[in-house]
Amino acid sequence: ILNLTKQMIEIRNLLMTVDSRSDSLKLPSIVVIGSQSSGKSSVLESIVGQEFLPKGSNMVTRRPIELTLINSPNSALETAEFPALKIFNITDFNQVQKTLYDLNMAVPINECISSDPIQITIKSPKVPDLSLVDLPGYIQIEAADQPIELKQKIRSVCDKYLENPNIILAISAADVDLANSSALKAARVADPKGERTIGVITKVDLVDPSIAYKILTNKKYPLRMGYVGVITKAPPQQVSGTNLFTRNKINSYQSYVAQQNYEYQFFKKNKEEFIGTVTSTKHLKKKLMKVLEKSMANALRPTHLAIQQELEETSYQFKVEFNDRPLTPQMYLANNIDILKLTTKELSNHFSRRELKSLLKNELDQKVLNLLAERYWNKPGNLKNDIEPNLKELSQLANIDDDIYWHKKLDLTTSLLTKLGVGRLSTSLITNSLITEIENLVDFTQLKNHPMARNAVSEAAKSVLSAKYYSTADQVENCIKPYKYEIEIEDREWLSSKDNAVNLLKEEIRQCDETFYNLKKSIGGRKLQQVMTYLDKLESNRTDTNDALGFLNELIDRGKEGIFLKDRLSLLKMRYQFIKNSKKCKNKENKYQCPEIFLDAVASKLTSTSILFLNVELLSDFYYNFPRELDQRFFNNLTNEEIELFAKEDPKIKKHIELQERKDLLETALNKMESILAIQRTK
Ligand code: GDP
Repeated sequence: ILNLTKQMIEIRNLLMTVDSRSDSLKLPSIVVIGSQSSGKSSVLESIVGQEFLPKGSNMVTRRPIELTLINSPNSALETAEFPALKIFNITDFNQVQKTLYDLNMAVPINECISSDPIQITIKSPKVPDLSLVDLPGYIQIEAADQPIELKQKIRSVCDKYLENPNIILAISAADVDLANSSALKAARVADPKGERTIGVITKVDLVDPSIAYKILTNKKYPLRMGYVGVITKAPPQQVSGTNLFTRNKINSYQSYVAQQNYEYQFFKKNKEEFIGTVTSTKHLKKKLMKVLEKSMANALRPTHLAIQQELEETSYQFKVEFNDRPLTPQMYLANNIDILKLTTKELSNHFSRRELKSLLKNELDQKVLNLLAERYWNKPGNLKNDIEPNLKELSQLANIDDDIYWHKKLDLTTSLLTKLGVGRLSTSLITNSLITEIENLVDFTQLKNHPMARNAVSEAAKSVLSAKYYSTADQVENCIKPYKYEIEIEDREWLSSKDNAVNLLKEEIRQCDETFYNLKKSIGGRKLQQVMTYLDKLESNRTDTNDALGFLNELIDRGKEGIFLKDRLSLLKMRYQFIKNSKKCKNKENKYQCPEIFLDAVASKLTSTSILFLNVELLSDFYYNFPRELDQRFFNNLTNEEIELFAKEDPKIKKHIELQERKDLLETALNKMESILAIQRTK
């Protein structure tokens, strides 16, 4: 079973993405424990052949480090990766050291320890296939003066790792009495019969070989898997050690070579004295591989069963909750964009020229009303001493052909209307309402639960529209240019504008009435009447300001408002009667007497001309390009990770996708597992 560990590690990695916390899906690892200075880091580093662990005085390890070694005979480089952080292909081991340091230091000192493991994978032609765990300062903390709850916390994090089927690698230094080895003490608690513990004795070079021999063959602390004696550091003069992060790769490699040499030479020289013991890091590695492989083999069947059960449960849940409907982030996205395109197509049927026309016409009606109010209706017909001609006269004039005042007035107002920037106004109006329409469409799809996607859709609409904005606005302005000089109106147009003007006035009267009613309601009809009467008298000098003593300033303002509304109402009613009923208004020749009709006719012309152009230039262009822009933004520009992130914004979708992923992964793991079992059976 040559590659069993490797294959099991692959399966374990799959299972880890399924559920990193599930206990039944865990495969055996080798858990390394040892008190401070026992040489724990040195052992790990000599197994890896790289210095990669952070060094520091106190409690540098605050999280378990789950170290996966993958032997990759065909790669020239040694690389490290932190899969959970999505950091891959690090070749600089100083970088690894620094990252590990930072990840540990991210746990605040007062929390002391975190149960959240750091996962690191090292691939190299030099390493064996192994899965190791470096546990945080379990033992030294045991001994130190720590508050009881912290001790408990540390223990609970570590105990989980020390359980069966994991193998415990208990590190003790040869120059410390084995009876005092806290690693062995801890191992014995978790593995009382000494069945899963390997004893590693470091610093063999520091004691007399005969003493080392005694330790390695001791019967006092028997371990079924025995002891291994190692030397994991060459003496200081051979190691060009410097400070924490400046050590370069050559030095790390050199010190590894120095250590290997030194250890080799030492055991060669003292060969006789170590007969019957297992020594050297080389043999340690072999032993670890063998032991792990065996324990992986033992774990095959139980893990197979666990995966099977887990898959059954997951499949059942998937059926019950999601009716076995497959879903991937890509499918979800594609589906939603399709729906959006479809609804956009529908939109193009009911949001077209006609709708645009009424939108723009409404806007221009408003402008016309403003101009009328500013230019015509601001001179109430009932002002006593007004020197200018007033509107009442306008309706009554028999013939104003020569009346320059009214001629000029209409010409000026018309030109204010034609020159108000219809190009920009109409383009903005259509642009904004299209964006609003699209945003409303989005809210009828599942995309509404995805802020990021909602935003991206709006942005897509905006970018398509803004690409055309300035040229469209300019061209619309150009199209309506002739109206700035001359406006020809046909009888038919005049009559339809007459109807429009009547309706506009009617609506204006209604609004004015409503405002007046609300005013009356808010301060009381009687009071309003009082203050208005007072203001009226004041106006015609029939009273003096003393009478105002009873009124607050605010009330005076309301009174003025009331008078304004009353005047405006009577004026609007007069105009309404005139426009609606007077014979004069039926004839376009009388336009100077009927500015309301004429301006509506102008607004109508501006509207149809602008829309004619906007429909082709902006609207059709939009309906053509928007779906393409969506494709561009959602399919060409998004990475798979972004798509996944997007889909999982919606909690229900997230659950669906994750369950599907879980099911797929479990199926893959089960298949692998079964092929391993099949190979085993043929042996
Ligand atoms: P840790 O605190 O358990 O991780 O121990 P280290 O690996 O940092 O080692 C502690 C000290 O012991 C360091 O100064 C190492 O250089 C030294 N050391 C480790 N292994 C050996 C060894 O086999 N022989 C000798 N002479 N020194 C060692």
